Amino acid sequence: MAVPVVDYALCTGCGTCEALCPEVFEIGEDGKSHVINEEGCDSCDCQEAVDSCPEGAITLEEE
Ligand code: SF4
Repeated sequence: MAVPVVDYALCTGCGTCEALCPEVFEIGEDGKSHVINEEGCDSCDCQEAVDSCPEGAITLEEE
């Protein structure tokens, strides 16, 4: 199964991924997007979040 991973060095906390997949992504107090539920990707299309991230900070990685 592929799980989304955020590169914190690239993430600007714009919130796009959280808006698309709130089950999976949450902007933390550090202003970065965090993956709060890897399994949540089954019920949404995280590829859209990957493609929509303006910084290219999200990747899908095989476990
Ligand atoms: S879309 Fe990309 S830059 Fe924006 S909060 Fe999500 S991971 Fe960070």
